[in-house]
Amino acid sequence: FISNCRETGAEEKFKEISNAYEVLSDDEKRSIYDKYGEAGLKGAGMGMGDFSNPFDLFESLFEGMGGMGGMGGMGGRGSRNRATEGEDQVYNLVLNFKEAVFGVEKEIEIARLESCSTCDGSGAKPGTKPSRCSTCGGQGQVVSSARTPLGVFQQVMTCSTCGGTGEISTPCNPCSGDGRVRKSKRISLKVPAGVDSGSRLRVRSEGNAGRRGGPPGDLFVIIDVLPDPVLKRDDTNILYTCKVSYIDAILGTTMKVPTVDGMVDLKIPAGTQPGTTLVMAKKGVPLLNKSNMRGDQLVKVQVEIPKRLSGEERKLIEELANLNKAKAPNSRR
Ligand SMILES: [Zn+2]
Ligand SMILES: [Zn+2]
Repeated sequence: FISNCRETGAEEKFKEISNAYEVLSDDEKRSIYDKYGEAGLKGAGMGMGDFSNPFDLFESLFEGMGGMGGMGGMGGRGSRNRATEGEDQVYNLVLNFKEAVFGVEKEIEIARLESCSTCDGSGAKPGTKPSRCSTCGGQGQVVSSARTPLGVFQQVMTCSTCGGTGEISTPCNPCSGDGRVRKSKRISLKVPAGVDSGSRLRVRSEGNAGRRGGPPGDLFVIIDVLPDPVLKRDDTNILYTCKVSYIDAILGTTMKVPTVDGMVDLKIPAGTQPGTTLVMAKKGVPLLNKSNMRGDQLVKVQVEIPKRLSGEERKLIEELANLNKAKAPNSRR
């Protein structure tokens, strides 16, 4: 599929991204982001430099966003003519159970703002020259004065007509003067093993283009994982319940059990008690960023007692009961 795209000339639109993402999995900080957005993150005062775990990766996100907030404030968000950072783009990616466990390479298509090729991102109609802004006389600033009992105060403000550049341009048609147009782009995304519902991948600089040469925003891929009909996930462990007949529980047996690696033999030891949890070591989910380490599959044994017995079975069980009485005569009346 990927090679097809290249052959058909979509080469330029198609950009391989390997390891350009970060995984964000700290629930608490994620909730800060959900609640307060950038400002909350900024206020959280982050700044650790170590990238050894996902928590730190998230810290780095905070830093990045803090910086962005600062820039936005400086440049003035309403301004059309100044360089401003592009907005982040969000993409919701649904994975099946196994894709999330083992990681997967996905091609996604996003519609984002890219620099307008007609005006080269300037927003000005090609062939036209910008004229001096009449509001500020080309100064980019306007001075307003206010009379107060303490005297006259003068306030210098960025000119809202030209956004502080002192120039007014004839807007470019395709982008209406914004300097950016919405285009779809295919991105090959490497989802690491061990992601779960709510994991966020950050692909740097793949968000919307900035204005007037400003840096692009980031692409955030939010993961949603479809459940498996029999296997349940508990962080890096996988939970499974297996039904064992009372005879197998007493005598012991070997059973085929579904795992993310396919059907695997599980030994049920003789005398296994109902509710016992058997551990299938390293059959769980690889650890994020440490995919050579894996959790376990925990198998809960549910012992099944038959509701009906055949005549012969009943006879045998009764014999067993008599044997038990004979063995321990004082324990029963
Ligand atoms: Zn344009
Ligand atoms: Zn002006």
